[in-house]
Amino acid sequence: SPPAEKFEYQAEVSRLMDLIVHSLYSNKEVFLRELISNASDALDKLRFLSVTDPGLMKESAELDIRVQTDKDNGIITITDSGIGMTREEIVDCLGTIAQSGTAKFLKALKDSKDSGSDNNLIGQFGVGFYSAFLVADRVVVSTKSPKSEKQYVWEGEANASSYTIREETDPEKLIPRGTRLTLYLKRDDKGFAHPERVQKLVKNYSQFVSFPIYTWQEKGYTKEVEVDEDPAEVKKEGDDSQIEKKKKTKTVVERYWDWELTNETKPLWLRNPKEVTTEEYNDFYKQTFNEYLEPLASSHFTTEGEVEFRSVLYVPAISPTGKDDITNPKTKNIRLYVKRVFISDDFDGELFPRYLSFVKGVVDSNDLPLNVSREILQESRIVRIMRKRLVRKAFDMILGIAMSENPEDYEKFWDNFGKNIKLGCIEDRENHKRLAPLLRFFSSQADEVMISLDEYVENMKPEQKDIYYIASDSLTSAQSAPFLEKLKEKEYEVLFLVDPIDEVAIQNLKSYKEKNFVDISKEDLDLGDKDEEKEKQVKQEFGVTCDWIKKRLGDKVASVQISNRLSSSPCVLVSGKFGWSANMERLMKAQSL
Ligand code: ADP
Ligand code: MG
Repeated sequence: SPPAEKFEYQAEVSRLMDLIVHSLYSNKEVFLRELISNASDALDKLRFLSVTDPGLMKESAELDIRVQTDKDNGIITITDSGIGMTREEIVDCLGTIAQSGTAKFLKALKDSKDSGSDNNLIGQFGVGFYSAFLVADRVVVSTKSPKSEKQYVWEGEANASSYTIREETDPEKLIPRGTRLTLYLKRDDKGFAHPERVQKLVKNYSQFVSFPIYTWQEKGYTKEVEVDEDPAEVKKEGDDSQIEKKKKTKTVVERYWDWELTNETKPLWLRNPKEVTTEEYNDFYKQTFNEYLEPLASSHFTTEGEVEFRSVLYVPAISPTGKDDITNPKTKNIRLYVKRVFISDDFDGELFPRYLSFVKGVVDSNDLPLNVSREILQESRIVRIMRKRLVRKAFDMILGIAMSENPEDYEKFWDNFGKNIKLGCIEDRENHKRLAPLLRFFSSQADEVMISLDEYVENMKPEQKDIYYIASDSLTSAQSAPFLEKLKEKEYEVLFLVDPIDEVAIQNLKSYKEKNFVDISKEDLDLGDKDEEKEKQVKQEFGVTCDWIKKRLGDKVASVQISNRLSSSPCVLVSGKFGWSANMERLMKAQSL
């Protein structure tokens, strides 16, 4: 047979392997979760492709994952009957970091180094295939793709900068299709090859994988066997009974080894919501999305009628991309199934608008064709209806957080995803009614906890008609704005819009509960207390002064006017009725830099 060929890892892979082996000890056991999740992905791919190409299944109809342990030699093998890899795919997938999960991990690692907090990153992100080297010093991957005639073997060692690929020639090791990983455990990690330990890990970390996972377990059954009678007993019994009691039966335990189904294979979303515990929802979330924090909320529902689908949605506890990156719709956050077959997690606004792309979950439809393509998804009426329902459920879920007994939950939500809600006000006119109650602002009467628009409206004075706001670049400058004076005197609350996006969001909403949003820095602010006679008189008296000031300032101002807006400051600069507010001006300036 041809000799093994040697390959160098891509530079990032070497760096990653180095990190894994030397610094990421804290949670070694996640290696099994990572490898089982790869096996599950490979089975998903095969099942999906076989819908249009049934020939892919011809070698074997079995779709499962088998984990075998050899505790005496410290070896674990993980076998799946999934899509396998061609020789080319082995090089691409196991020698380079082309995969999003791993890239995300490296970025997070860098960020956490920058901020000086290096906590349990491997548990949070997983590093995919390479996590095998957390516990193994040698890994052998033997894999057979239905696209390839031959089965190939990848072999790599911890602390090495290269790996080899050769053809599988041992007839005993040939598999009909799929991948077999063999981990030769490090001396100190051989304990992972105990069958009970592996079984426990599967139950802990991979309970919700939707393919059967079998582990190799020692079993026993009891059986009655005939035994020769104990001679000592014979003596005691005396002579009479001796002949009858020569033979006697005894219960013994027969030991043998067999595969044991170790996970729950019925998908969680098909179960009755009444029978699923919060803990199960949370575990499902953590396992499916490789998350380490519990979600802030979840929602499990079925819709019937026009379009039938089932779904479990979640609001994550933190924004993985960071609070300021709200426009990353390619998140792999929604896993779409059609009749339980995984179809895709690669969406770009088809199921959720981009401002809601942080919502995670699974959606299983019976009405879409199994061979649904991206084009079909984009044009399908069914998908449009699904999207509408999903978005509503997402809003209900978020509103649920806002109304929960723990105010900290919504604070957390707002801190992480508030920008998304504001973006929604700008991009999704149709859902203004659902978005507006979720907004939170500081105000002239609430500078420590943010308030909702409902709280604002409740706090309005009987004669007050509008909702007042001022946009500013900071809380302090909003608090000291001279525009506030008159409103403070009247005890009107003023919202402080201190995030650059706030003002645009509010301007898009225009009103809330039939009350208009009014910018108190605009020239036509009317607080409903005009005394026309007096105004006329003052205007006459100071007209000359105004003209004089205007002449001195020239083009620097549009006009100089008498106003009744101030109580203690002598003058104030305001924006024209149709002009940009000072805040908008700042924004535009910042953007043109
Ligand atoms: P990710 O799962 O995020 O893509 P991994 O490092 O876990 O990253 O895996 C890298 C790639 O190796 C996978 O995307 C897949 O293409 C390939 N791979 C890993 N394990 C298997 C397997 N059991 N069967 C087929 N392909 C696999
Ligand atoms: Mg993976």
